[in-house]
Amino acid sequence: MPSAPLPSDEAERLVALRSLDLLDTPASEVFNSFVRVASRLFAVPLAAISLVDAERQWFKATVGLPMNETSRDASFSAYVILQPDEVLWVPDARLDPRFCDNPNVLGASRIRFYAGVSLIGEDGHAVGTLSIADQKSRLLNEDEIASLRDLATGVSAAIRLHGMMRRLEQDARSDPLTSLGNRREFETSLKPFGSESVALFLLDLDGFKGINDVFGHPGGDLALQEVGRRLQAAIRSGDCAFRLGGDEFALICPGMATAEARFSLAERIHAAMADTFMIDGQTVPLRTSIGIAVLPDHAGSPQELVHLADVALYDAKRAGRGTTRQAGHLPDQSGEGPSSEPGLSVHGSGSGIGLISLADRLRRALVPVGSEPFTLVFQPVVALSTQRTSSLEALVRWDLGPDGSISASEFVTLAERLGLIAHLDRWVLAAACKAAAGWPEPWLVSINVSALSFGLVDVVAMVEDALATSGLPAARLVIEMTETAFGGDVSRAREAVEGIRALGARISLDDFGAGHGSLSTLRQLPFTGMKIDRSLVANIGTDPTAAHMVRLIADFGCALDVRVVAEGVETVEQLCAVAECGVSLVQGYLLAKPAVVGDVVQAVRDAERIVTVSLGGRIPPERLTGVPQVMRSRVT
Ligand code: C2E
Ligand code: MG
Ligand code: MG
Repeated sequence: MPSAPLPSDEAERLVALRSLDLLDTPASEVFNSFVRVASRLFAVPLAAISLVDAERQWFKATVGLPMNETSRDASFSAYVILQPDEVLWVPDARLDPRFCDNPNVLGASRIRFYAGVSLIGEDGHAVGTLSIADQKSRLLNEDEIASLRDLATGVSAAIRLHGMMRRLEQDARSDPLTSLGNRREFETSLKPFGSESVALFLLDLDGFKGINDVFGHPGGDLALQEVGRRLQAAIRSGDCAFRLGGDEFALICPGMATAEARFSLAERIHAAMADTFMIDGQTVPLRTSIGIAVLPDHAGSPQELVHLADVALYDAKRAGRGTTRQAGHLPDQSGEGPSSEPGLSVHGSGSGIGLISLADRLRRALVPVGSEPFTLVFQPVVALSTQRTSSLEALVRWDLGPDGSISASEFVTLAERLGLIAHLDRWVLAAACKAAAGWPEPWLVSINVSALSFGLVDVVAMVEDALATSGLPAARLVIEMTETAFGGDVSRAREAVEGIRALGARISLDDFGAGHGSLSTLRQLPFTGMKIDRSLVANIGTDPTAAHMVRLIADFGCALDVRVVAEGVETVEQLCAVAECGVSLVQGYLLAKPAVVGDVVQAVRDAERIVTVSLGGRIPPERLTGVPQVMRSRVT
């Protein structure tokens, strides 16, 4: 058997392959579905998606092949990637000098017919193949060759999307300003600590607002970067520093078991901060308050650990600048003491009301049930192909009366932190289903449910309840899982997602592409739809990567047969661009702002008219089907 020749771009090709971060990853439904389609479409017993590594071909998905990998020399794929633009097909491998003594031809696999096409990664390099094979010899006609090529386009899109999402996930873990881990990374890092001893330091800079006021935001940024550097220099090698947001930092110090070691680190940090730091020739005073808690000494779980460190920090803050407090040594529990509301250091609340009383009001609003001060508004989602409204998304509002207002994201996050989110989601579900039951038949209602609720309560029962009480048919309900906070028990979430589907409702993944590890969530849970995050839509006209990603997500969504909505469409240009990318449903301020229940009909009319006028024949109708090139051969 001749050893397989190498393509001329081999070195770059391998770099492109590695950058996808797809080799040796677990099986995935997305890729499995592609090989199943290939096997059915061509009526062959064998189909595979393989990646061609330096010495081996590794199978990401297979039908009819028992192995995970073969040597590169024994692969057909090694030949396919020599001509990335061509479909390589062999009617009978016994008659082809390249393959006649191949072990897969001579051995138990007895391959006769083979056809393969390259999968293209970033920068156009062929990273692997989509292959079909049979133990009988056969021919391929022109249509079949074209279909195989189309299918490979879909797989290539899925592969590149995987790579991009992996990079986004990386970026999503670090704070761009200081390069320290961000809050999400902090939560992930803390989760594994069960009974192992770990000390948590929470830090909040003293008087940081003053630095921002005097030196402006650029000065504030410099100060935060400097704090990041000084923290890194102060900690031990196994410790980790994070920026949680604003001027909040955290340190996770595994095995720091003695109070002496902890206070000595705290002292090193205070000393490091006190060292001179200058901006524009002026000395900038950097000081921080520190709260410490230790697992298992003070807390039984990582969650409780954060709570207690937060309480200690709050106490340190009240004691004055540059103070350290440790949990269990709180001198003052009286008055408006910190223990009344630990863990609430959400900054920048738009309301004039203090955070602690806000949390109190939220709790009183939600428990017990009955007197909720919330309202709902609804925003249309329009199908581009028909230019008709497909659904309305329910969005919750909370009017604080004379204390002003607070954005949905803020109080939803607060409810999540207080463990109250399931109460809020239950209220919204009931109220939104009730409203939707009175709407015209074709309109669905989309309801946001926090991923955290999936871990806290029986979401399926909650949905079933809301449907039964309102009389809304399940087929008219879409649950949007807002997954920024997803980090819970996957098998439990999967059961819930499957349960919701079993009721006959749909379930969609919100904010896809925002970099919250969405692809891994999508892979693990059987969603029927996804919403492209507003940040991608906002940048679609200016950032080629955003446009590229929207196109990939649209292709990918259609290949998986899931509804893809682009949210946050604000301009005609964005509308046309997402339509061009193959997205089939749109939502955003351009079409209609969220409307109170009495104005829903008007909002729907406006939205439909604006879509019709904005598209105005600019995009050819066949482009608006939402069915990507790759699947059309299958559908028609
Ligand atoms: P989301 O589910 O992604 O909702 C879309 C958000 O984008 C809404 O903000 C909507 O008003 C806003 N939006 C829509 N079109 C545009 C646009 O063209 N431009 C811009 N800049 N924004 C647009 P809202 O209502 O403030 O909600 C924010 C987030 O709060 C939601 O994001 C969702 O994650 C959460 N949320 C809202 N209502 C609920 C709810 O009832 N339950 C739960 N669990 N979360 C909710
Ligand atoms: Mg949503
Ligand atoms: Mg969203």
